[in-house]
Amino acid sequence: MRVAIIGAGIVGSTCAYYLSKEKINITVFDHGEGQATKASAGIICPWFSKRRNKAWYKMARLGADFYSKLVEDLENDGYASDFYKKTGVFLLKNDESKLEDLYDIAKARREESTLIGDLKFLSAHEARERMADFSGAGRLIFAEGAARVDGQKLVDNLLAAAKVNRISKKVDIKKLGHAYEIDGQIFDKVILATGAWLGQILEPLGYEVDVRPQKGQLRDYIIADKNTGDYPVIMPEGEFDIIPFSDGRVSVGASHENEMAYDLSVDNDLLDSYRRESEQYLLSLKNAKIAKARVGIRAYTSDYSPFYGQLETLENVYVASGLGSSGLTTGTIIGYDLAMLLSGNETILNPSDYPVDRYVKKKDSL
Ligand SMILES: Cc1cc2nc3c(=O)[nH]c(=O)nc-3n(C[C@H](O)[C@H](O)[C@H](O)COP(=O)(O)OP(=O)(O)OC[C@H]3O[C@@H](n4cnc5c(N)ncnc54)[C@H](O)[C@@H]3O)c2cc1C
Repeated sequence: MRVAIIGAGIVGSTCAYYLSKEKINITVFDHGEGQATKASAGIICPWFSKRRNKAWYKMARLGADFYSKLVEDLENDGYASDFYKKTGVFLLKNDESKLEDLYDIAKARREESTLIGDLKFLSAHEARERMADFSGAGRLIFAEGAARVDGQKLVDNLLAAAKVNRISKKVDIKKLGHAYEIDGQIFDKVILATGAWLGQILEPLGYEVDVRPQKGQLRDYIIADKNTGDYPVIMPEGEFDIIPFSDGRVSVGASHENEMAYDLSVDNDLLDSYRRESEQYLLSLKNAKIAKARVGIRAYTSDYSPFYGQLETLENVYVASGLGSSGLTTGTIIGYDLAMLLSGNETILNPSDYPVDRYVKKKDSL
């Protein structure tokens, strides 16, 4: 069986890694430009969400848990897992009653999500005992189990461990009888993990896809002489978060821009404004050096739900998209489940809770 995966963000790379364990011949095609995964902030902390969508929450909670399996599997295969670190989170709100609400939500969820770990209020003084240059004021919630993921490192490690054929280009797909032609090669099965670009690849095959692009940008800074690797993620109220990585790298962002289509330009005024505001939470950002800006495109469905599974009307084609702003949390479990579906093994989630046909429709059936 020859399998093609188009798209090597978090979904395509995780799928490639777990399919490679089934001894299946896989080729991964990835254009890479605008990829959400490598531009992401990388916060894994779904437990404070107020979304009412139970299927989404189940996916997000189990997706956060899934990182421990992924880390273990990669380590057993001899690959580094330094893309993932459980650092905890500082969650801040201007209104104290909102903080109480969120605490109650997460506390109730801790029974089924033990990963949350220690969950408590901290004063600004107690927060500074954990993170000396934290400069916020007022109470905050600390949740021990929150993590940060370096999206670029994650996909690099997964693809290296998968040992698949990799082709870096934008491709399209043609149906040839019961098979598919991609870049001059023939494949029996195809996985479309193309994120916000799913509509573009399926449109020539006669499909309409309910996925819209949303631009997100953030900036990486380098803070000299600070051991930022152990710093918690800081989530203040509002648009941006502060995500410390190792070696003094700290990311600040990200924007959620709905009317920008697939635009990848950097808006320095916007990123400067995030920086100014972020200094009130992490003082050392004041003298930090700018490393680089990152821009990526998120994929949203009209009801904000992700979907994945087999495309019933196009044999042997599997798709996933619509991961929105929580795709670093849900992406690995979706990639794993897609690999299980294709290889005929048991999935973790029930794919019928995330139905593809709600979002991908054949034009002549509309
Ligand atoms: C700025 C930003 C911050 C974020 N922060 C967080 C966060 O803190 N926590 C969280 O959980 N989530 C976060 N997200 C969301 C998360 O990053 C995405 O939901 C997730 O990465 C989507 O993964 P994906 O594999 O579906 O798509 P992508 O990562 O976008 O990958 C799709 C890949 O397919 C390729 N492709 C598309 N069409 C073709 C083609 N025709 N030929 C070849 N290749 C093609 C693209 O080039 C791309 O590389 C953030 C996103 C952004 C943009």
